[in-house]
Amino acid sequence: MGGIETTVNSCRLSVKDPGQKMNRTETIKELRKAMEFYQELGFEHLPLTKEVLSEIITEFGRDKNSKNTAGTGQDKIKMLNDLQREIGGCQQCRLAKGRKNIVFGEGNPDAQLMFIGEGPGREEDIQARPFVGDAGKVLTSLINKMGLRREDVYIGNIVKCRPPSNRDPEDDEKKICSSFIDKQINIIQPKVILALGRIAAQTLVETKIPISKLRGKFYDYKGIPVMPTFHPAYLMRNPKDKWLTWEDVQQVLEKLKG
Ligand code: URA
Repeated sequence: MGGIETTVNSCRLSVKDPGQKMNRTETIKELRKAMEFYQELGFEHLPLTKEVLSEIITEFGRDKNSKNTAGTGQDKIKMLNDLQREIGGCQQCRLAKGRKNIVFGEGNPDAQLMFIGEGPGREEDIQARPFVGDAGKVLTSLINKMGLRREDVYIGNIVKCRPPSNRDPEDDEKKICSSFIDKQINIIQPKVILALGRIAAQTLVETKIPISKLRGKFYDYKGIPVMPTFHPAYLMRNPKDKWLTWEDVQQVLEKLKG
């Protein structure tokens, strides 16, 4: 990818080619300046494409996640983009009929921590982004309380299309679609996976044990520790159980340190 250069009147935002190592502090300063300028003009979003933003996020993430193999971010972006192309306009199961968008997943391709949910809801289907509805707000708040930002982690789902009326995905739908999250995990190679809710936990751990019994312990997914915990939507209905998820998260943070 070439560099990005956006000029509006006196404000000039210039992000160098990712091949040239950027100074993180300077770049953040530049981006902040540009964003404040756009905000004053009334813009709510920077006019950058998803691909460009994902490249910027990777550049920032690489410094922060220095424990991951340096220099692999670009390869992972390419592999994820290839996978997204491979999924294309997938018609392999009945969920294709009712969807507005495929929700591929998003975040830092070099993330040490991956959150995996069940499948897109109404808002996710509209925006083609995972966890951006009410449950997404709870998840974002949890990520922030862990001392991280959404851009530091990777967020995906077991199924990539919204089940009608938010019903549980059926066995054949999970079976067909989970091959894609398997490939995403294989590309990202996170240090830990947090499985959000029953469907994600049971699919990754390959069990029918209820989430209330699964949560709080690590399981193995192809050599990667998986911590099942409650789904953010469940926590909205049962806020008294938030402390249990917080306990699970403490174990995850410990594991990330190790
Ligand atoms: N619930 C999920 O499991 N995933 C989403 O992306 C949104 C809500």
